[in-house]
Amino acid sequence: MKTVDLHAHTTASDGSLTPSELIGYAKEKGLSAIAVTDHDTVAGLDEAVAEGQRLGIRVIPGVELSTRVDGRDVHLVSLFINWKNEEFLKKLAEMAVCRFERNYKMVDKLEQAGINISRRDLEQFPKGQVLARGHIAQILIERGYASNLKEALNKYTVKGTVGYVEKEVLSPEECIRLVHDCGGLVFVAHLHQIDPKDPTHCVDICRRLIEMGADGLETEYCEFDDQWHQVTEEIAMEYGCLRSGGSDFHGSMKKGLDLAVGYGELCVPYSFVEAMEEKLVKN
Ligand SMILES: [Zn+2]
Ligand SMILES: [Zn+2]
Repeated sequence: MKTVDLHAHTTASDGSLTPSELIGYAKEKGLSAIAVTDHDTVAGLDEAVAEGQRLGIRVIPGVELSTRVDGRDVHLVSLFINWKNEEFLKKLAEMAVCRFERNYKMVDKLEQAGINISRRDLEQFPKGQVLARGHIAQILIERGYASNLKEALNKYTVKGTVGYVEKEVLSPEECIRLVHDCGGLVFVAHLHQIDPKDPTHCVDICRRLIEMGADGLETEYCEFDDQWHQVTEEIAMEYGCLRSGGSDFHGSMKKGLDLAVGYGELCVPYSFVEAMEEKLVKN
């Protein structure tokens, strides 16, 4: 069976392989197509698509957008986007500025709380790199405020702690419209992570997103057990919407997780891509 992986990250966001390396690896894995879906950026797509052409493997341009519903973080994997669309690029650039300002605000708050950190510390990172909470956590670990990433994030950056600053995101309606305007399809990603303690709420939010105009959801995902698999399949059947899936590969950033197969069991059929293409033709 021809298989694909429709959810993967590169160094353009928080993956460890460059776009070219990722495409080379997808080819090595025998995939028939790979989607590059970095967080809130399309910076890796030119290189990925060019490498795909060189190696003869299909590369689907994508992006993973963050939004919020009922105060919960929701990720929307978007595929087949025209990543040169000007309005789209403008929005992504605005979001990058917000993220930049958020980092500064977080550092200011930590400094005011007596922690040895300042705006200058953020300037040590290479220009152009997308900085996030993890980079601030890294500084805190170096200075002995926490012993590992998880502890640093939980102690200093989450809601209710001294360094917390709410992340500004696009509304789900805005995300869906933006992606549709640049010719793409929107999928609700890993819905079980939306509200981990409340599966019913996860499903409820997913339904609302589909009713709002999302084209489908991930029914194959590296962390899905039989039950989540069944729940997502049922939603897809009920709405007659598209199915997508992937490993959410991050290279060495996620241990034990591999491209194409996830934690070993994942298998995303090429037919998912064919169904998407049919819908795109109709659009
Ligand atoms: Zn995600
Ligand atoms: Zn992802």
